[in-house]
Amino acid sequence: MYEKKDKKTGDTKPKLTSLSALGEFGLIDRLTRNVKHYHPETLVGIGDDAAVIDAGDKVILLSTDLLVEGIHFDLTYTPFKHLGYKAAVVNISDIAAMNGIPKQMTFSLAVSSRFSAEALDELYAGVVMACDKYKVDLVGGDTSSNVKGLAISVTITGEAKKEDVVYRSGARPGDLLCVTGDLGSAYIGLLLLEREKSVFQADPNMQPELAGFDYQVGRQLKPEARTDIRNLLIGTGIRPTSMIDISDGLASEILHICKQSGAGCKLFEGKIPIDAHTTELSKEFKIIPSVAALSGGEDYELLFTVKQEDYEKIKDIAGISIIGHMTTASEGKFMITPDGKSVPITAQGWDGMREK
Ligand code: ADP
Ligand code: MG
Repeated sequence: MYEKKDKKTGDTKPKLTSLSALGEFGLIDRLTRNVKHYHPETLVGIGDDAAVIDAGDKVILLSTDLLVEGIHFDLTYTPFKHLGYKAAVVNISDIAAMNGIPKQMTFSLAVSSRFSAEALDELYAGVVMACDKYKVDLVGGDTSSNVKGLAISVTITGEAKKEDVVYRSGARPGDLLCVTGDLGSAYIGLLLLEREKSVFQADPNMQPELAGFDYQVGRQLKPEARTDIRNLLIGTGIRPTSMIDISDGLASEILHICKQSGAGCKLFEGKIPIDAHTTELSKEFKIIPSVAALSGGEDYELLFTVKQEDYEKIKDIAGISIIGHMTTASEGKFMITPDGKSVPITAQGWDGMREK
């Protein structure tokens, strides 16, 4: 650690590293640099959407996510039921990203005295609704008081055959880069909710005006996990070479695949699937629609790569878009704009546009 001398007292003080200088992923790398594994069953630890644990004839997938009031959700416009649903779904999404089947979940709360039991009943109604829909067993959790606000921690397990697990690291140059559904709407939904919140704060007599924005607001408040993609791909005989779910934004997730696979990529901006109304609304908010998709996040769609020879099988599947291809690492990571310009792809975790 570097020492710094105080000019007045002459004392030496350690020079401390700010978290913002490290960024989210720099911090995770730093904190986990001394981690060792002791068990041969731990096939894969930190670095993917879930850890992978050998269980004989199959593997167990294990993932966790933390949601903090004021950072990940705002209770002025998030109904408790939606929050419970979303907290479960974002974890289920990480299992879908490994090509696994979600199985068990624990759900933990740190809650201040500001909340009523009725509010938490609603939260759990949302959790149970997600568990019903995705057939996940809620098997435990922990409950704590909190000085201020609400924090939720969810852990999930999943299951897969060892050979079926899809990692972030399997993409090879030439592979096609594909995405499910459409992107950017969850972010526009957030902007719409924030806009109504500021109108309400300026004049509490104003009622929120969200009619006509159901799709965008729904994508933000009640996302779904793409557990359906596993069966869809099995049905067409395609096995993705790599996969990740889009929680932080397309750019950040593409960079994870490139980094873990030791590859580069060429992404075609014009191929990014964006809902027509979301495109219109982006312009209203003076945001380039592709930027909402690239940096917005929280769409919980899947980004995956397939071998080039699977092109014929994948090109006509409704709800899957081919948005580019992988290259060698030395060719870099670029987005090609509709007028043919090459722009380097950049993204940051929590330093991104979405975080406050
Ligand atoms: P995701 O967006 O899929 O939830 P993250 O980007 O949060 O994944 O995390 C990336 C990887 O780093 C994961 O393997 C996760 O388990 C691991 N990770 C994140 N935070 C920590 C931490 N504080 N300590 C150990 N591992 C962590
Ligand atoms: Mg993930």
